[in-house]
Amino acid sequence: MSEAEPSPRHLLTRVVAAGRPAREPDAPLNAPIVPVSALHAGGPYEYAREGAPTTAAFEEALGEVEGGIAIAFASGMAAANAVFDTWPGGVTVVAPSAAYTGVAVRLRELDERGAINLRIVDAHDTKGVLAALDGAHTLWMESPTNPMLDVAELEVVIPEARRRGVHTVVDNTFATPIIQRPLEWGADIVLHSVTKSISGHSDLLMGALVTQDAEMAEKLRVRRVLLGAAPSAFDCYLALRGLRTLGLRVERAQANASAITQAISAHPAITKVRYPGFGTMAAIEIVGGAEAAERVCESVQVWTHATSLGGVESLLERRRRWPLESPRVPESLIRLSFGIEYESDLLADLQQALDRSQS
Ligand SMILES: *Cc1c(COP(=O)(O)O)cnc(C)c1O
Repeated sequence: MSEAEPSPRHLLTRVVAAGRPAREPDAPLNAPIVPVSALHAGGPYEYAREGAPTTAAFEEALGEVEGGIAIAFASGMAAANAVFDTWPGGVTVVAPSAAYTGVAVRLRELDERGAINLRIVDAHDTKGVLAALDGAHTLWMESPTNPMLDVAELEVVIPEARRRGVHTVVDNTFATPIIQRPLEWGADIVLHSVTKSISGHSDLLMGALVTQDAEMAEKLRVRRVLLGAAPSAFDCYLALRGLRTLGLRVERAQANASAITQAISAHPAITKVRYPGFGTMAAIEIVGGAEAAERVCESVQVWTHATSLGGVESLLERRRRWPLESPRVPESLIRLSFGIEYESDLLADLQQALDRSQS
């Protein structure tokens, strides 16, 4: 009986295989859309805020890919608010200065009303992050940060936070589990705006939390129930369909990001390129401030001028056009979300838009 342990299958295989119906004659290959609010009594779901078959299929697949138990939410912000809602009153929370705008605004609101005591750090300043951990309840991290593309040393700060009894939550929306898996470094919770790369087609709003702690998973699921933040069956179906190609999409978009940021770095209209060397996101700063940056956004034809990120189509926008964006973000900064189009078409389009911005 000395059967060898089967070697664990590669992530790119598991993302395709996870969350499917049992292999039985005539069973569908894909989990069907089950539009439902109430289910017959006696089973695991009962009512769709608690859970539902299509939601469960998506959760099973994302949990497999990120390495934990996944709970799906109606949006990334709904997932973030579910985490905030588990905190006891008055706890200290350490968070990055340029966190996702919605998260940053909510944390400031909670701080102002005395619900938490917020300590702001620079995510990439490891010493500063570690110094802020004393007496903290939670370390909230995002890496790379949106839209500054700062990279935190997660492999250092997560284990150190854990050693000091500080919970860590990592917003992994930018990196995706294909590139970075914070639960493996000991993070307590990973957050995704499923709206972005996980679903990948800019056609739905969803969020998710993933944890390896079954008790925490139940706590977060109960937050979904009580906050009423459950996703729809149709969105779960689309998100699962998108998740199947996450590996391909990220590899392709990352290759575009890497090549194109390199190729435009010497363009005379650009003062700075922010690309951490991995991932599908970058930012550029433009000669001529906000006005010239807006001209770039208006001049693109292959790229699309729109907010959001992580879809198959390449998107760009000047972040400071949003009134709530951090004043630390330069006025001329354009965030680039690389899609899966052909590299030289994206490059040529960006180059002509940069040329026009200076005329
Ligand atoms: C978009 C985004 C969110 C919020 O997600 P929604 O699905 O828009 O609610 C949170 N974090 C990051 C990094 C994001 O990009």
